Amino acid sequence: MSPPSAHDVVIIGGGITGAGVARDLSLRGLSVLLLEKGDYGAGTTGSSSWMIHGGPRYLEFDWNTTRLSTQDAGHIVTIARNIVYRVVFVIPVLPHDKNNIERMETAMEVYDRFQPLKKSHSHVRLTAEEALALEPGLTPDMIGAVTMEEWGVDPHRLVFANIQDAVAHGARALNHTRVTELIRDGGSVIGVRYRTADGATSEARARVVVNAAGPWAPEVASMGGTSVELRPAKGIHIVYPHRISNFAISCESIDGRDLLMVSHAGFTLLGTTDDDFYGDLDSVDVHADEVDYLLQGFERVFPSIRKYRPVRTTAGVRPTLFKWRHYEDELSRRYEIFDHEKEGVNGFVTIAGGKLSMYRLMAEETSDAVCRKLGHQASCVTARRPLPGSESDMEPAAEIAQRYGVTALAAVKLQSRHGSRAAAVLEDPCAGRMVCRCEPLTEAELVYAAHNEQVRSLADAFRRVGLAAGPCAGAACVIRASEIVGRELGWSAAQRFEAAREFYRGSWLGRAPVMAQAGWAQEELALGALRGLVN
Ligand SMILES: Cc1cc2nc3c(=O)[nH]c(=O)nc-3n(C[C@H](O)[C@H](O)[C@H](O)COP(=O)(O)OP(=O)(O)OC[C@H]3O[C@@H](n4cnc5c(N)ncnc54)[C@H](O)[C@@H]3O)c2cc1C
Repeated sequence: MSPPSAHDVVIIGGGITGAGVARDLSLRGLSVLLLEKGDYGAGTTGSSSWMIHGGPRYLEFDWNTTRLSTQDAGHIVTIARNIVYRVVFVIPVLPHDKNNIERMETAMEVYDRFQPLKKSHSHVRLTAEEALALEPGLTPDMIGAVTMEEWGVDPHRLVFANIQDAVAHGARALNHTRVTELIRDGGSVIGVRYRTADGATSEARARVVVNAAGPWAPEVASMGGTSVELRPAKGIHIVYPHRISNFAISCESIDGRDLLMVSHAGFTLLGTTDDDFYGDLDSVDVHADEVDYLLQGFERVFPSIRKYRPVRTTAGVRPTLFKWRHYEDELSRRYEIFDHEKEGVNGFVTIAGGKLSMYRLMAEETSDAVCRKLGHQASCVTARRPLPGSESDMEPAAEIAQRYGVTALAAVKLQSRHGSRAAAVLEDPCAGRMVCRCEPLTEAELVYAAHNEQVRSLADAFRRVGLAAGPCAGAACVIRASEIVGRELGWSAAQRFEAAREFYRGSWLGRAPVMAQAGWAQEELALGALRGLVN
């Protein structure tokens, strides 16, 4: 075991909450170590709906969450301006919907009061004809529709931008590093024991340990001899590798819940479910009936939905705070900071609940609590300070494309991940070479991610730079990507093959629930071809 390191704060969990806290505390001048057992954003954050929104539906039962979330969304879209994008919803109203068009418009009028907080526009009421002209895929049975504006973001990049800035301000952040134990001295937590990707074990001492483990927060709390109670709720999405509709669409499911279909930079997420979850958090499966539930809800407003070929599914578990009795969908999305000193455990704080859309505020309040414990006087600057890549305006993508010999689409994609720092990523002799054409990824970006963005597996590259996120789902690019990443990280030939196989195995689990048997046969053929290639 290597000798223990010492920090002001150790943060457990590299989802958006932990990453936000790491950034905030390092900007306040504290020494921070963040440990993530998988990859950054690979927990709940990465399987979210990718929305920075206020959540108009919470207005009915949780007004304060909508207000806080909208306010913080306003800060997030300012500090991450180069990686967020506007998402405009068309919400069709059908004859027997829970809300008729008047009720729907009234709800939107209330939400309009919040919209300026996040720099969004007010709703527009549409006749059925106007809605059909904008969105021809909608059912002609609708009575009318309203629009609603929100923001989209790649949560993987948002997490990484926070990590990147934390590291730039002195933090250490390690992915694939699991905290196995909290070190205790009498009633105090004084550090953590952890195991790194290569199996080595280490210790880190800290004046405060922050539990930002999302749905795993109860497990981590119990390592500290205390407890946190959540009511975890599972949600899935169906992913299409292209744009299906002109606008985002929201509609009602069979049980009256709101569903959404959103195109994010060329692929579409259709979701989501919300069900109490009692299973293994490290193995969350998607079931065929969950897929059917979503398709049934959408078919009613978008009749051709079953004709489109999904490419995979996502599944995640919301770290919702515990509440008895309420229906899952009506549970508050509020968050809470637990200072475990109240239960006699000093030096240990948990942040639980909340949403991606108010992660910055959650991080600010958690950091305030940590600073109070440490007697450290420094105020939060994250509401105004731009994240890496959003410090300056972006140059036109066409100019980057011409200078480095890549397609304009590849330059746009690059900018959506690196903002104003995109050109620097292409400063590499292999700049013009593409890894995949269907998800235009340059070799230079993959090389950059391997060296500068802690990519340790091909699944990490999927999250960091969108490897295999396009229609080929990896069939055309994973072997080549394995060669490139392997070359940069010094993998042997066997390790490169194993990396590709591991990626296919993992992505198959997400694909199987949306494949008919013909799809399974195709998949077997592709895996057979892979074995043939390697032999
Ligand atoms: C289906 C779905 C859709 C959603 N859509 C939206 C949306 O569009 N907008 C929105 O605002 N919110 C949305 N949410 C909610 C939002 O995604 C979550 O509130 C948020 O991402 C939680 O982030 P987190 O960092 O707290 O948890 P996580 O992202 O789960 O991060 C916790 C991390 O802790 C790590 N960890 C656990 N144990 C250990 C250990 N022992 N050692 C080291 N690391 C450990 C895990 O690996 C994990 O990466 C959605 C949630 C779901 C499930």
